[in-house]
Amino acid sequence: MNNLSARPLGDTGIKVSPIGLGTVKFGRDKGLKYPNRFNLPFDSAIVALFEEAKTLGINFIDTAPAYGTSEERIGKLLPNRQDWIIGTKVGEEFGANGSHFDFSGNHTRKSIERSLRRLRTNYLDLVLIHSNGDDIEILEKTDCLETLMRMKEKGLIRAVGMSTKTAAGGKRALTLSDVAMVTYNSSHTDEGTVIDLAHHTGKAVIVKKALHSGHLAKQSGGNELALEFVLSRAGVSSVIVGTINPIHLRSNALAAARSQAEDLTNPAPG
Ligand code: NAP
Repeated sequence: MNNLSARPLGDTGIKVSPIGLGTVKFGRDKGLKYPNRFNLPFDSAIVALFEEAKTLGINFIDTAPAYGTSEERIGKLLPNRQDWIIGTKVGEEFGANGSHFDFSGNHTRKSIERSLRRLRTNYLDLVLIHSNGDDIEILEKTDCLETLMRMKEKGLIRAVGMSTKTAAGGKRALTLSDVAMVTYNSSHTDEGTVIDLAHHTGKAVIVKKALHSGHLAKQSGGNELALEFVLSRAGVSSVIVGTINPIHLRSNALAAARSQAEDLTNPAPG
């Protein structure tokens, strides 16, 4: 089954599936807000998840240095790297004492070099600044974004942006870069105005936590209603849904395909 059509990631020239695979649970099992405990998956389970994603038409994978061994495991286990759009992040590091943040140019450069090594690739499709909440200050008062832009010019990165925590930060990220990643679900709609801005300017918004870290999937209508809620808002390029369960992945892809089909049968006026 492959009913998902790739769509533009704003004006970057990159095309992504309407849902992407979030990989926190590939490499980290501490300091998370999921409703259920879980064990890190075996290599064979990750390989099976990639195969299932490919079959379903999912081409987009989201990772970060702050997700423990996620980048390394993707580098080791993902087949045919050129068939995938890989997004990673800079700025947050997660260790035994929790998270710490470094948005300096020096750290940014070293982090990208490390991500290239861990992911076993010579280019990154997308790099997002992993915000600690001080979105505007990071964008305007550190040299993180400028460093990423220089690496983009050198061809090491195809698109840059920020995973933000505020609506103002999301809008600033869209003005200064290619992509904003925002939280958006029926319990958290504040950042919907960032999606509207992307829609009107042709920039890209990626949505994280569409299932409210799994809590919405437990409610009536579950993942299906939650994904329809997000994908029906014009301006969303893709929704990153975290899962290590191939049945959940398939169910999410089916929900996304249904939303796409409804879009086609009810085109926007004008
Ligand atoms: P989420 O996608 O809203 O929820 C993921 C949780 O929902 C997982 O525990 C997953 O469990 C469960 N789930 C997924 N599909 C399901 C289904 N069909 N039925 C029932 N449960 C289902 O939230 P998230 O994981 O916090 O965020 C998603 C991704 O966004 C992350 O993996 C990460 O890549 C990215 N993210 C980015 C940031 C950032 O600051 N940039 C922050 C948070 C997350 P199962 O494994 O059991 O399916």
